[in-house]
Amino acid sequence: MLIRPRTYRAYTRKDLDRIPQIGRLPEEIRTDMKAVSAVLPFRVNGYVLDELIDWSRVPDDPMFQLTFPQPGMLAAPDLELMRTLVRRGASPSEIRLAAREIQLRMNPHPAGQRELNVPRDDSGPLSGTQHKYRETVLFFPSQGQTCHAYCTYCFRWAQFVGLEDFKFAAREAERLAAYVRRHPEVESVLFTGGDPLIMRASALAAYIEPLLEIDHVDAIRIGSKAPAYWPYRFVTDPDADELLALFERVRRAGKNLALMAHYSHPIELSTPIAVGALQRIVETGAVVRTQAPLIRHVNDDADTWAGMWRTQVRLGAVPYYMFVERDTGAREYFAVPLAEAHAIYNDAIRQCSGLERTARGPSMSATPGKVAVQGIAEIGGERVFVLSFLQARDPSWVGRPFFARFDPEAVWLDELEPAFGEPQFFWEPGMRRIERSGRPPWLDGTPTSRAADGRAAG
Ligand SMILES: *Cc1c(COP(=O)(O)O)cnc(C)c1O
Repeated sequence: MLIRPRTYRAYTRKDLDRIPQIGRLPEEIRTDMKAVSAVLPFRVNGYVLDELIDWSRVPDDPMFQLTFPQPGMLAAPDLELMRTLVRRGASPSEIRLAAREIQLRMNPHPAGQRELNVPRDDSGPLSGTQHKYRETVLFFPSQGQTCHAYCTYCFRWAQFVGLEDFKFAAREAERLAAYVRRHPEVESVLFTGGDPLIMRASALAAYIEPLLEIDHVDAIRIGSKAPAYWPYRFVTDPDADELLALFERVRRAGKNLALMAHYSHPIELSTPIAVGALQRIVETGAVVRTQAPLIRHVNDDADTWAGMWRTQVRLGAVPYYMFVERDTGAREYFAVPLAEAHAIYNDAIRQCSGLERTARGPSMSATPGKVAVQGIAEIGGERVFVLSFLQARDPSWVGRPFFARFDPEAVWLDELEPAFGEPQFFWEPGMRRIERSGRPPWLDGTPTSRAADGRAAG
């Protein structure tokens, strides 16, 4: 199939009236978009507009819900205020001021990210780095702090509206490599953002290549939505071949290159360019692992997930995580209660073969760790959620079932109460110790998995 190259073009709030498909919508809808996008980030591109959104189904179209500001994303009084300002042509600074006040009420920094996850070396905190789970370091390259388009439900929205002044963003590739070299427990380094694949291949290589010399690094991971929002990145962009050659170099160095691809809906895999991109990535020897949150109005039904996972498996990708929408930003609009999320997950998994069942979830990335709803059960006459950690700040918490009173409306871990009259969950005392000391427990003499299995010495 012939694939024509396409030049990347972004549209943001100031371009709303210039998007032809938007110009055809009623005035009130455009006013609402301007009102909401003054508060929450908005960015889309020509490919998403022309190929992924079905404009005959707007506003219900899932890709439209995924990328365009929706009136329900703001609380009614906030929406009304922003609408009024837009209608009377308020100045940009007046709009910014009103928006800031709303943003600060939308829990811009969830899950203790800023206080608890930033590691240190001899010269102080490593900005642009997070080390929450023993085996994996997250790195936010400074040039990778935007995306080819923004998701309306983005949990890192605060950095795109200037609330996060890029404290995460690191500049020094060498400092990252030095940190990883001194931490033999680190098995994988996950580049994230924004979207690291916004960067030129040469800039990305400068970060990745020093890590290839480190024996205890097994995997380089790249978290990206480019395969969905801008698949040209891997096929026709000027440095597409250079990027794929970098993936091959990682593989030749004996490491896994895991592209953690964010796919929210099967439509994102329905175009020839999207299929072609995935094929080219897989041909480098990279493993594509797919993940997304479960989002009201976008992908809140089992058939969508089952169809998406099947397509991914057919194209050589490995389903990885189904997340629960996080407790930040426009979560009221996008949230799906845990009980419903679990039902959707189960219904989707049951439709699929074992190859799709590598998808785990629904999982909350909360302060203590990634907590999955494993089931809903009746034990001793009490209806409970069966929960367990897929990842935890203290590795000893992983895989130990714990129980919360069933609550059909709960959407997040902090709304759950221990079942059976217990005063607290088993991990809460340990979590308080970590919060008090500001240190992860594995730094305090817990043997690393490497030391435990003898590989560190070998
Ligand atoms: C999910 C996550 C990781 C990676 O966890 P895996 O289960 O190994 O994929 C690492 N760091 C943070 C902060 C995460 O949220």
